[in-house]
Amino acid sequence: MRVLRNKGFDKSKWMQLPRDVIVGHGVLGQLPRVLEDLSLGESVLVITGRHTRAVAGKKVIAMLTRKYDTRTFLAEEISPAVIREAEREARGAEILVAVGGGKIIDTAKIASFNTDRQFISVPTAASHDGIASASASVPTPEGNLSLKAHPPVAIVADTGIIASAPHRLLASGCADIISNLSAVLDWELAHRLRGETISEYASTLSRMTAEAMIRNADLVRPNTEETAWMVVKALVASGVAMSIAGSSRPASGGEHKFSHALDRIAPGKGLHGEKCGIGTIITLFLHGEDWREVREALKKIGAPTTPREIGIDDATAVEALLLASTIRPERFTILDTGITRDSAESLIRMLSKD
Ligand SMILES: [Zn+2]
Repeated sequence: MRVLRNKGFDKSKWMQLPRDVIVGHGVLGQLPRVLEDLSLGESVLVITGRHTRAVAGKKVIAMLTRKYDTRTFLAEEISPAVIREAEREARGAEILVAVGGGKIIDTAKIASFNTDRQFISVPTAASHDGIASASASVPTPEGNLSLKAHPPVAIVADTGIIASAPHRLLASGCADIISNLSAVLDWELAHRLRGETISEYASTLSRMTAEAMIRNADLVRPNTEETAWMVVKALVASGVAMSIAGSSRPASGGEHKFSHALDRIAPGKGLHGEKCGIGTIITLFLHGEDWREVREALKKIGAPTTPREIGIDDATAVEALLLASTIRPERFTILDTGITRDSAESLIRMLSKD
């Protein structure tokens, strides 16, 4: 066959997506079958935390020990030192299984990427879209560092386990999904203003996921498997949008920069998705969108809508809003269009207005 060569067409892309996604009631028990399906080896390193080991890790270890050479690594926190230790352990195994929340999954994601192994994501909570994405976040003294790794080769999300986690974690996951709305608007702005390449498929999928979450905010009920199901599917869709784009652009814009700025100046306050949700209200207002509708949806879900609800005073939030544009400056967002101290103060005040 003759290969047609189009003059001027030199585009190419490498998309990495999860291969097996298993979501639902009691699916934890299917993990051995997933490993069998993937045939990646006979030795497994399970990365889990002290609490998540009790919730699901123990069961996973017991199941896998029957058939695989299984070792465990307890990651109590995420830090460059813990990741290095996890990498040392990972070299003695062929595949990694992360059982836990965002920090455990991010530790496994980086360790597996750096040691050239695949990892399976077994989330015990649905608190952000990192459960299905290729990027990971590592705290450093200078703030959180966003690292590009690879997406999990499989996701096993047991809705029974996820529904048992504190509702605050799931509400934070919902807010992270809703923030896609702002991220996509920023991406479109960067496309129009700076000529940045945009993927229509990735932006459409990401926006659709956020809109469905807003539409279904009324259906969010604490500690129910129906809600866990809805949120996990949305988080996976968000991860897929990022895989199609080849970057976190469809799910991370100015609202994420605001969240990262808060990580830096008010460390330890609020969850990732909570901070992104609050940032989304601000960025949607700046984009001229219906920010009140989003604020209402966040309230219904049980996510915070003001910095004070997560223990951050208004003055600190103003500083974060001013700092936000300096974080990852190459990623152009609405926060790069000229926020002054006066406007930052009135934007933060707006959050608590009726
Ligand atoms: Zn996020």
